[in-house]
Amino acid sequence: MKQWMAIISITMLVSISTMAKNSNQTPSRSAVKQSSINLQAYQQEIAGSVEMCRSALTHWQSKSTKKNRNKPIAIFDIDETLLSNQALMEKYNYKLTVDQFHAEVASSHPVAIPKSRELLHAMRKAGLEVVLITGRKQGVCRKTAEQLQANGIDSGDYIALYCHNDNKRPADYKAAVRQQLVDSGHTVIFSVSDQMGDLTGEHVGTPCQLPNPFYQVA
Ligand SMILES: [Mg+2]
Repeated sequence: MKQWMAIISITMLVSISTMAKNSNQTPSRSAVKQSSINLQAYQQEIAGSVEMCRSALTHWQSKSTKKNRNKPIAIFDIDETLLSNQALMEKYNYKLTVDQFHAEVASSHPVAIPKSRELLHAMRKAGLEVVLITGRKQGVCRKTAEQLQANGIDSGDYIALYCHNDNKRPADYKAAVRQQLVDSGHTVIFSVSDQMGDLTGEHVGTPCQLPNPFYQVA
């Protein structure tokens, strides 16, 4: 049975803190005007972030022995980490709302962020199992797995895919999943995400933050 079939269900409305300061504005998944985004710089920042994480991976490999390995895992976020939703954001002139995101993400065609995908595969090769935790809702989990597969991340590349299934903020939901993983004997070695909220708190291991010039998730 594929791991995503055991994924915890999700009903929560994800709250987004937009990059715009005006709290009266409709919450946006992408609140930055296209013209203000330097896409070339964005790609360069991704490459730089991944390179730093690869160095940390090499360091971990040099310190890790079979004896001290205790079900080591790397946790990856999905949106703007493994998959890019740039086309969907462009469709709404980079003013995609949270509701639009959740309504359309399953039928959209996100593309891989190749550097992150390479990092995932490098981590697996180094002996880490991969766990995916996303703020996407349970209803799109199956489709999410299909999107990942279409972008070179097969279900065999990760041991579990968790989709948001409670009323907590996404970061709090993810923290609760990390705690479950630790309670079941896993050790989180790396967390890879574009959102700082996924990279702070307990059991994140070494944080690998990717850039996101489009939006922030509360
Ligand atoms: Mg993300």
